[in-house]
Amino acid sequence: MRIAPPDSAVSEILPAVAEFLNAPRMQIGPAGCAAASGQSFAVYNPATGAELARVPAGGAEDVDRAVRAAQAAFEGPWSQMLPAQRQGLMLRLADLIEQNGEELAQLETLEQGKSIMLSRLIEVQASAEYFRYMAGWATKIEGATLDVSIPIPPGMRYQAYTRKEPVGVVAAITPWNFPLNMAAWKIAPALATGCTVVLKPAEETPLTSIRLAQLALEAGIPEGVVNVVTGLGHEAGAALVAHPGVAKIAFTGSTETGKLIGIQAMKDMKRATLELGGKAPMVMFDDMDLDLLGAAAGIGTFFNSGQTCCSGGRIYVQKGIYDKALEVIAGVTRSLAVGPGMDPANQINPVVSARHQAHVRACIARGIEDGATPLIGASTPAQGFYVAPELFTGVRQDMALMQEEIFGPVVTVTPFDDPDEGIALANDSRYGLGASIWTTDLNKMMRYVPKLRAGVVWVNSHNIPDQNLPFGGVKQSGIGREHGRGALDNYLETKSVCVAYR
Ligand code: NAD
Repeated sequence: MRIAPPDSAVSEILPAVAEFLNAPRMQIGPAGCAAASGQSFAVYNPATGAELARVPAGGAEDVDRAVRAAQAAFEGPWSQMLPAQRQGLMLRLADLIEQNGEELAQLETLEQGKSIMLSRLIEVQASAEYFRYMAGWATKIEGATLDVSIPIPPGMRYQAYTRKEPVGVVAAITPWNFPLNMAAWKIAPALATGCTVVLKPAEETPLTSIRLAQLALEAGIPEGVVNVVTGLGHEAGAALVAHPGVAKIAFTGSTETGKLIGIQAMKDMKRATLELGGKAPMVMFDDMDLDLLGAAAGIGTFFNSGQTCCSGGRIYVQKGIYDKALEVIAGVTRSLAVGPGMDPANQINPVVSARHQAHVRACIARGIEDGATPLIGASTPAQGFYVAPELFTGVRQDMALMQEEIFGPVVTVTPFDDPDEGIALANDSRYGLGASIWTTDLNKMMRYVPKLRAGVVWVNSHNIPDQNLPFGGVKQSGIGREHGRGALDNYLETKSVCVAYR
């Protein structure tokens, strides 16, 4: 079955989904398997709080088997393939993602809680497109020819060139906010460059990653090229990062975990890209197009119930339009329907876990304790991991509400006087992933975009990545960029070849 219309509600769970949930197994080499320890852990449905499935609790032994399978594939069949063959297999995988799209979308909404519309559009469709985009690069990897000036020995001439070679086995570690899409962001460039992968998905949301590895095999990608070890971060994740057979780590997750991984990577001199946390500012100037305010609040901040690393949790509004902006943003916040993701009419869905629900609620309580003013105070369904969207005013820069990543539907709105002050407030953060400015004045835009300390700056929009747009953070939001041609370099080593001739 292909993907259903994005805005259609799910009336029944597909038989294939029910069957998959019976006994999902991790994927090492050619086969699904249990953990060596025989242990498993529960995955929950955030909409109900009930157990959805049990998956293997992989540990060091499973990680070792997976890395060995990935090494064997890297040195064996995968390295023999022509770039055009890799491209063909990736395109086939993209087709299979679409053909199994409704199954994947339902699985994603069941394990993550998000709107089925987002599962269809982002997790499934955008992931298929990501594989297609990266497949195109497989045949376009190139080095350079270099003139060199080596004078010895007399009579000898030289010509040099560079080769771009796959780095080897990639450890991909993903978070729970966009599980399938984050897996695609890592696996697609790895395959395009000829690397093999061991993926450790977040423990909250391992299901679509397992299914993706199955589809990779079905597409004809040789066994061992894409492996998935399910398990806990400090067990399977830590074992994977420390494994000597891993050449490169591609991590998306929290800044705290990213630092641990960065230290381990440095110890072993492994290559690492770290896509970490954010606390994105949206700076709205007096001259902005006020018709954009609704979308700014809806997409910029509450998309995926605020569980987006670029979510515009800090809105700064110039005083001339502050009252109007607050009225519109509060109106949008109040209008958001809260409920299960299986009905696309619900715009705020449960957050991913009971633990995360407690965290977001604690952030709200702390904000109130610190003296900020909540404007909404809505209620939520009694069952499931819901948090009602909340909007705060009266928030000082030094409050936790302003400085700490909440990763939920909680937004602050703060006035400023002049544009320089707005930009200074925006930059007053340990994070620097996404940011936006809102203006109709071209001069202002050109002046202030360079001043924002962020890896991605949107103008008159926010929170919309693209496969061709380099994505990543400055400051404590990470190291490196995903997407675009430049992302390939994360998975390639440069080998210089110097040829002497007479
Ligand atoms: P997390 O850091 O807790 O976990 C992320 C992944 O790391 C999970 O798979 C987890 O099992 C694993 N992990 C945990 N401890 C580990 C360890 N010691 N060694 C190896 N792996 C370990 O983050 P999360 O709560 O799952 O995700 C939310 C965070 O991710 C937020 O901070 C968010 O901003 C960030 N995020 C960033 C981006 C980006 O592109 N910059 C995108 C999405 C999410």
